[in-house]
Amino acid sequence: MNPHQTPRINIAIDGPAGAGKSTVARMAARDLQYIYVDTGAMYRTVALKAMESGLTADDAVRVTELAERLDIRLIPGPEGQKVIADGEDVSSRIRSLEVNRQVSHFAKIEGVRNRMATLQRRMAKEKGVVMDGRDIGTHVLPDAELKVFLTASPRERALRRFKELGDNPGVTLEQLELDIADRDRIDQEREIAPLIRAKDAKLVDSTGRTAEEVASEIVEWGLAIARTISAEEK
Ligand code: C5P
Repeated sequence: MNPHQTPRINIAIDGPAGAGKSTVARMAARDLQYIYVDTGAMYRTVALKAMESGLTADDAVRVTELAERLDIRLIPGPEGQKVIADGEDVSSRIRSLEVNRQVSHFAKIEGVRNRMATLQRRMAKEKGVVMDGRDIGTHVLPDAELKVFLTASPRERALRRFKELGDNPGVTLEQLELDIADRDRIDQEREIAPLIRAKDAKLVDSTGRTAEEVASEIVEWGLAIARTISAEEK
């Protein structure tokens, strides 16, 4: 079915680190001809820029100022999404081990979260967005027509991240599993917009499933919702 024949909806995909959200969200957006928004990349960019400016997450006021001034652009391309911060390509630097370890501390800052949520809502205003993150279904887009909470076993999540790091991972699988568990705990326990499943989100466990399988399930759900909206409008 041609996605253009149905009204556009917004799709929120939340879940813990390494559950496969970004791969699945990118595939679903491709099939639906929607825009993919990786909100984790936005928090990573703030963390990177703050660290490069010598700031720590304890300095909430200055980190918030930095986040408010920062121009972040997510540019889709053939080799994946590019992240441009103040005109500079930071796509690979935001994936470093140091950013992995620090990002959740910066993501706790209220001013940073407010700024990111404002930008994210702006991107979703015209609908036709697949947005992945931690608080999209609960906080950023509570009215998203389709919400998915994607999980996988901790071991599988660590293994996926480990493979992404290539031949010189610079970290053991066991350490990666600990880092991921740490990040999830900080994301779940923070006061503002913590990582939690929205009541109306569909729970999907991707353990042992391919990203293509999960993405096509989401696309089918999305099209079914869009068809229902279209029927109601007639
Ligand atoms: O999705 P990714 O693993 O790249 O996200 C990096 C970090 O950014 C998360 O661990 C979390 O601390 C933060 N984040 C967030 N809210 C979002 C997306 C990401 O707090 N919507």
